[in-house]
This record gives sequence, structure tokens and C-alpha cells, in this order.
Amino acid sequence: MDDGVKRVGSSFSKLMAELEERQARREKEESEKIAREKAEWDALPEEEKQRILAQREQERKKELAAKERKEHIEECKRKGIPPRFYDAIWDNWTADTPEKMLALGLEGLKEHIKSISFFNNKAANIIKLSEQLSGIIRSNAAWRFPDMYHNRDALMTLGGIGRKTANVITSILWGAKNVGVDTHVFRLAHRFGWAAAADNTPEKVEKKIIKIIPDKYLAAANHLMVMHGRYVCKAMRPDCENCPVQKLCGCKKE
Ligand code: SF4
Repeated sequence: MDDGVKRVGSSFSKLMAELEERQARREKEESEKIAREKAEWDALPEEEKQRILAQREQERKKELAAKERKEHIEECKRKGIPPRFYDAIWDNWTADTPEKMLALGLEGLKEHIKSISFFNNKAANIIKLSEQLSGIIRSNAAWRFPDMYHNRDALMTLGGIGRKTANVITSILWGAKNVGVDTHVFRLAHRFGWAAAADNTPEKVEKKIIKIIPDKYLAAANHLMVMHGRYVCKAMRPDCENCPVQKLCGCKKE
């Protein structure tokens, strides 16, 4: 074997030895770290361990919920339907429990929602609702929202929740065959020709819409009607010229 080959062989051996040494050092550091963390964990009082485990579980659930929201929104975009919830609400939650809502207080809550209409009334109702829910949770630790308020009548016993809101909640959360009739939905149902002049209450219009729209589209249609009424088919001056459903509209043009 000539000197050149010997030199290469010896350098390679040295390199391998060095790599093995580095790997062994890394493994040793890693196992020391694991042992140190285990010792620190074992030394913690039981309540602290429970608190950390609960916090980890909460973070895990939040991550899972964020992932599900993202997937849901992407799916809705693909299908061209509105998502069931808004990122802005879920991602920037300030008060995700009745207690946190109460901690904001009436004035604090108003500050958060003052850009929407009727925010004074809405804030008062949210505080009333939070008081009710907080009281129920205190008196029954195993309580879960859907268990007690899974239908329209039960929801309507809560502060600030009328038939329209209860319909929207049950339809969006649980796919119930309900539709929330607000001023826009009421007006559009008449303009589309879905409701007759005799259908002069939200409940009568609700029944007509439920008969016409297939169940699986009810929640999405409800949302689309509100948006269409707010921005295109407005009460005073409907923008028929630019209306995407003009050809389907049963309205005699005003
Ligand atoms: S055509 Fe006019 S009245 Fe009919 S839905 Fe469109 S905006 Fe409303």
C-alpha cells in the first residue's frame, strides 16, 4: 500500500472516530437531559403536576381546534360556501368563557364590540347570558353547553337569545332544520317570491324557506341571504343591475 492510500485511510479512520465520539457525546447529553427533566418533574408537588398537565391538554385542544377551523375554512372556500365561524373571533379570543366575559365587565365588553350596531344592548345581553351560564357551571361542574341547550326552546331561556338567534345557533352548530329570519331574510323571501303577502311574520316566512331550501344548504343559504340583503338586495335601493341572481329572482323590478 503506498503512502497516499495509507494517509487517506488514516484520515478516514480519524474522521469516523470523531463522528462516533460526537454521536456518543450527543446521546449522553440527551439522556442526561431526559433524566434531569424527569427528576425535576418527580420533584414537583402533585397539584403543580396536575396544573401543567391541564394546561398542556388545553393547548393541545386549542391547536386541534385551530387546525380543524383552518381545514373547514379551506373546504368552504373550495365549495364556495361561507364558513361556520370567523377566524377573527376564534383566533383573537379575549373571553372564551362566561367568567372571562364577566371579568371584562359591561363597559370593558362595550369597548370590544363598539364597532357593531346596537352594541349597548348586545353587551348588556352578553353579560346577562354570561351570568346565567356562569351560575349554571358553578352549580354543576360536569355541565356542557350542548347537553342543556341543545334545542331552540332551551336556548331561548337564555338572556338575549330569541327565536332568530336560537335558530341560527341550532342550525350552524348541530345542523338543525331551522332558519333565522331577520329583516333581510324576511324581505328577500318576499322579493324572491318564496313567501306570499299573507306570510307576514318571521315564523311564517321561516316555514316557507324550510320547505324550499334543501336541508343541507339551509345554514349556508341563511347566511348568504343576510349578506345579499345587506349589500345587494337592499331595502331601499336594491342593486338589481349588478345582482348575480337577477335571472332567478321572482321580483317584479322596482
Ligand atoms: S334582482 Fe333585484 S330584487 Fe331580485 S334579488 Fe337581485 S337585487 Fe334583489
